[in-house]
Amino acid sequence: MIDTHCHLDNFENLDEIIQKMGNGKIIVSGCNQKTNEFVLKIIEQYSNVYGTIGIHPEEVLSALDEHLEYIEKHLNHPKIVGIGEIGLDYHYDLDCKDLQKKWFKKQLTLAKKYQKTVVIHSRDAAIDTYNILEEEKIDCIKIVLHCYSYSIEMAKRFQKFHVMFGIGGVVTFKNGIKLKEVVQDIDIRYLLLETDSPYLSPEPFRGKVNEPFNVYYVAQKIAEIKGLTLEMVLEKTTDNAICQFDLPIKL
Ligand SMILES: [Zn+2]
Repeated sequence: MIDTHCHLDNFENLDEIIQKMGNGKIIVSGCNQKTNEFVLKIIEQYSNVYGTIGIHPEEVLSALDEHLEYIEKHLNHPKIVGIGEIGLDYHYDLDCKDLQKKWFKKQLTLAKKYQKTVVIHSRDAAIDTYNILEEEKIDCIKIVLHCYSYSIEMAKRFQKFHVMFGIGGVVTFKNGIKLKEVVQDIDIRYLLLETDSPYLSPEPFRGKVNEPFNVYYVAQKIAEIKGLTLEMVLEKTTDNAICQFDLPIKL
């Protein structure tokens, strides 16, 4: 199984939580210069850990051109499997919308130049995200809509692009009705498992620190919703992740 999205820079028991994944793989995402540097470090330390680097929409106020140069410089690392997380987040700060869009577009341009998968964080910004993907003509780029939080209707519109949907702990929440609908209606071929650790722990650990192994509980829930076996969900989502991130692993 593969946790396609998490942040591990604040864990003291890294060895333990990574070992717990066994043969499973982990993709760690950066958000700013500091965490991007961490990603480059951790992928050297653990053979089953891969990374994506990028500037998160909530980090744009402190982002510098040299941070983008750093990303570009390291995109050819064999274990850097994408650019992210990048995108738009209008949840708290509406003053930097234009700046968020600017950084989103800059990084999409980089993805096109290097043919890299993008990991998109999009919150309360569905239409702007969709429009930018359309404007930027990213048809040839593989996209992960991480921690997908929009409606099934919107999911179907996004399928115009080469997208997969990152499904995390929210699907196990009682109030995660919208996401359950998405999981039910979207073919398993387009679903990825993720934790977004240390955030968003699935039931029965809601409220506690999340860790990559908990994708297991997300997979269990997806199996229940779609009426598939757990093995089938683990196998399919692993194949999906290998394909969407072009992971250097044989199927
Ligand atoms: Zn994240």
